[in-house]
Amino acid sequence: MTGSLGSLRELNRLRIVDALRHDGPASRADIARQTGLSASTVSSVIGELQSAGFVVESELAPDGRQGRPAAQLTLDPSAGAAVGLDFDHDKVRVAVSDLARSVLAEASVRLDVDQDATAAIEHASDLVGQVLDEAGVGPGQVLGAGMALPGPVDHARGALHQSPILSGWTGVDAASELQRRIGIPVHLDNDANLGALAEVTLGAGRNARSAAYIQMSSGIGAGLIVDGRPYHGHRGTAGEIGHVLVDEQGLICRCGNRGCLETLASGPALLALLRSSHGDLTVERLIEIAREGDPGARRVIADAGRAVGRAVAGLCNLFNPEMVVVGGDLSAAGELLLDPLRESIERYALPAATENLDVVAGELGERANLLGALALAIAQSGEAVAARIAGTVSAA
Ligand SMILES: [Zn+2]
Repeated sequence: MTGSLGSLRELNRLRIVDALRHDGPASRADIARQTGLSASTVSSVIGELQSAGFVVESELAPDGRQGRPAAQLTLDPSAGAAVGLDFDHDKVRVAVSDLARSVLAEASVRLDVDQDATAAIEHASDLVGQVLDEAGVGPGQVLGAGMALPGPVDHARGALHQSPILSGWTGVDAASELQRRIGIPVHLDNDANLGALAEVTLGAGRNARSAAYIQMSSGIGAGLIVDGRPYHGHRGTAGEIGHVLVDEQGLICRCGNRGCLETLASGPALLALLRSSHGDLTVERLIEIAREGDPGARRVIADAGRAVGRAVAGLCNLFNPEMVVVGGDLSAAGELLLDPLRESIERYALPAATENLDVVAGELGERANLLGALALAIAQSGEAVAARIAGTVSAA
């Protein structure tokens, strides 16, 4: 039971702002449905937020139920901004967005992220300054930053777990190092978890409650979505599907084990298979010649699809998602990869575990992890937004 009328109103305000943060533009009727609040409470709180300048009415869109246009409400950029950072193995991407998830400015730089964590964090902080300038956003307006790292994340420390993967980051308190430099609260997660969050928020898995996002690029990882949120497991390492054993006699993996899925189906593994016959290729070129009909290129992509499908079949038996979204740069191969992957899931999973299962390519491409980092920052900024709004509304 909430103590006073004032705090009940604050709570309602928070719920309505949360609905707009999580689900984007919505009509008053949508908000009432999502929050369970009455139409009159929603109208009154929205009126208050509009006069304080935090919520704006945008264009009319068809109302789902009645078929007539309803005013769409969104959070105004003045309600706050968020920063997202994606540390890929050889690249850092940075973006700033408003709380309605519109990207205001974006930049990237190529550098060796794996080897030198401190240099990567320094470059990233410079890029943050650059995108904030470009977007005309003051640091005081930024409520939080989301950070994507390509390794197993220890959430208790805000850093990577110590492992041979990304050894350059061992002993570096990644989140607090970045926070110290940019002066914005930093929230850290694994890149595949954030790619998953982006795809279920904005991409191919929009509104899926349970989904597995399989990131196939220089490494292979999975992000598991449970009840609409990334699932981390006890120590934050849930979803490390790239290090599932698939061939006991296989190659030694960068994790130190032998025959992990990554040693068979990651981008570098596929390029290595073609080196003696095709010379040095990039993943982009591999996909291009596969599309043109090169049998060797098609073969390695199909085999990778089958190998990943077999591991995903096990995942489906254990986890029973409604959707599997395949992302990462290899997913640009489309049906050349997805068809054998689906066949393999069908062959190895329990039929009941894959009934009505959708297996689709991601829609957000190489920006998935960056957009997920923004979504994380926005999702974590609830209290900061509420405090900002409460200050303005009560002062008005
Ligand atoms: Zn491994």
